[in-house]
Amino acid sequence: MTHAHFLARRKRLLKAIGDGVAIVPTAPEVIRNRDAHHPYRFDSYFWYLTGFPEPEAVAVLVGGKRPKSILFCREKHEEREIWDGYRYGPKAAKAAFGFDAAYPIEQLDKKLPELLVNRDTLWHAIGHDAEWDARITKALNAVRSQTRAGKRAPRAIHDLRAELDAMRLVKDGTEAAIQQRAADIASAGHARAMRACRPGMAEYELEAELTYEFRKRGADAHAYTPIVAGGANACVLHYVENNKLLNNHTLVLIDAGCEVEGYAADITRTFPVNGRFNAAQKDVYEIVLAAQDAAFAATAPGRHFMEAHDAAVRVLTQGLIDLKLVTGNLDNLIEKGDFRRFYMHRTGHWLGLDVHDAGEYKVGDQWTTLQQGMTVTVEPGLYIRPADDIPPALAGIGIRIEDDVRVTETGCDIYTTAPKTVAEIEEVMRRD
Ligand code: ZN
Ligand code: MG
Repeated sequence: MTHAHFLARRKRLLKAIGDGVAIVPTAPEVIRNRDAHHPYRFDSYFWYLTGFPEPEAVAVLVGGKRPKSILFCREKHEEREIWDGYRYGPKAAKAAFGFDAAYPIEQLDKKLPELLVNRDTLWHAIGHDAEWDARITKALNAVRSQTRAGKRAPRAIHDLRAELDAMRLVKDGTEAAIQQRAADIASAGHARAMRACRPGMAEYELEAELTYEFRKRGADAHAYTPIVAGGANACVLHYVENNKLLNNHTLVLIDAGCEVEGYAADITRTFPVNGRFNAAQKDVYEIVLAAQDAAFAATAPGRHFMEAHDAAVRVLTQGLIDLKLVTGNLDNLIEKGDFRRFYMHRTGHWLGLDVHDAGEYKVGDQWTTLQQGMTVTVEPGLYIRPADDIPPALAGIGIRIEDDVRVTETGCDIYTTAPKTVAEIEEVMRRD
């Protein structure tokens, strides 16, 4: 992504906010314990508009006849740079990131009221961060205190996220190329985990294989905490302990993806620990795979967001009937939601800078209509928790298959390339 991309996004937002002022802070650094920090991750909205990687930075976009974008950031600091690394400082940041002006972050509270004077609207992610809400209220009050001098504060505060979410929802070609790179690396990680897997290993050993492949190929990090769930652990949807042993004749579910230039891949694969599906595992697997195919077929421009889910639920519910896990008429079972005992999540979500990306799913009571450039995951699953009424051969089977998909002009393209069919998985895991 070049700085021209970020500049173009700021221009677009400046048009959208009229003569208002938008305030976009990046994420704070977060302490892990005592004086050790979590690895720093910028705020996705801030990154989307700036590409500026440092903490303690705020973009202020001032709309109107002479629109301008201003960056507040840390000053150069010889000693801190010796300890913590390079800082652009306002002067270099202004040039490198194409801002019209840049100031030290310490000047923000002083300059903010000046920037808000006689503007009609203020755009901000209201309620996202209490400290920021207070800081902005203070700036507004500073303007209000000068009413007798003829200075007027904005009358309206708009949620900036609504505007930016709509922009972020549709990805352009440059973003698609980055998402493809993320999917390629994540796919390689999943294939590596399959090749490495042996009965008796611990779940974290497969996590290590993923991490190795992600970093070896230049991804920045895991995009989210990876799930490596052996056997019935796969039926715990957000299982992240990853510390149990992988038993022979069971499946392992891995939900993991990497982050590249801020963009997330989000892939799930489920495969037999010993490299060969048994009959019951294969039966369930083929149902989930068929559900995913049905969901892909329903992912196209003009279709609405929930159509993929509805298509998957239909195939999954028929599968549950065939497995004798539910009994009754297909349409009745779908209507009553009986599948939810075995399939309790949605079939997809937006994917982008956030793994559960920005964007409306529903406007009014209408599900969002898919259009070219939107990116969704397609991730049906079946989770058969052991219970008295579950046949032993099926008990503890948890399967999810998740791919990343871009809506195209006519249908959808699948980014993900990790082995997926029974034949592909058994082939990549074959050891002889
Ligand atoms: Zn997902
Ligand atoms: Mg996932």
